[in-house]
Amino acid sequence: MSKSSPVTIVEVGPRDGFQSIGPFIPTATKIALIGRLHDAGLRRMEITSFVSPSALPQLADAEDVVSAAATLHDLDSQVLVPTLRHAERALAAGARHLSAVLSVSERHNIGNVRRTPLESAADYAAIIAAASPDIRIRLNLATSFDCPHVGCIGEEAVLGLLEILLAATTDVEVALCDTTGRADPRHVRSLFASAQARFPEVSAWAFHGHDTFGLGAANALAAWDAGVRVFDAAIAGLGGCPFAPGATGNVATEDLVWMFSRMGADTGIELDRLLAVARNVADLPGAQVGGRVRQAMEARACLAVAQ
Ligand code: ZN
Repeated sequence: MSKSSPVTIVEVGPRDGFQSIGPFIPTATKIALIGRLHDAGLRRMEITSFVSPSALPQLADAEDVVSAAATLHDLDSQVLVPTLRHAERALAAGARHLSAVLSVSERHNIGNVRRTPLESAADYAAIIAAASPDIRIRLNLATSFDCPHVGCIGEEAVLGLLEILLAATTDVEVALCDTTGRADPRHVRSLFASAQARFPEVSAWAFHGHDTFGLGAANALAAWDAGVRVFDAAIAGLGGCPFAPGATGNVATEDLVWMFSRMGADTGIELDRLLAVARNVADLPGAQVGGRVRQAMEARACLAVAQ
């Protein structure tokens, strides 16, 4: 794959980021932020999750967010669906791109959805069967590298589970997720290389990384070296995982845009407009933010004013 081939950044702030914020963000604010991210050039976003509103009240407005995002030109909106029941709700609401998720780690999966990975794999096959062929599917394997409960996850556990999951379809984008942010670049490069070699028929591969230990961009680069061209990121590095204690936000969208543009890999995203959104997101009540580029650019702006 060419070093300069374009990179797709999937903005997951409206899902992975917002779900970690306690105070309810008004639906109109969420929709406005999604619109501004779209204005900055993002054409793919994970805009919400269909989960039990009592478990995650922040995302109780999933239906309204889906209808609003459908009006944005050329936006590929995916929604996270942890079970068949929630996938059916998402499809009924008009979702066209389902982002299924299960954990490689049994303890993490049981903590999330009270079922084993194999039980979730059966549910995933039922989601594939329920979705018409024009519905796009992303398969997220959470804790592909590390689990907050049991630590490092071996490659064979990931590949063995993928073998079962891919029996349903290989016409799917598979995201290997560093849920805790404890992966390292060598592990990321190695797992993607092994997975791609074993399952060459998979349509596309993606990397979902958190920046808990400051390796979010380094891990994304390792995945890029392995040929991955789809990366999840959250505006302002927002987020955390409610089921992964101590995990901080996703790698910041602006950090990946900065890195890839410096490398000459086009993301189609305008950094200045993105940074303006990042500043507003950082000001949301209850937001925990991260990343480096936003602050570096703010410091540079202050310097320019002082000169
Ligand atoms: Zn995540």
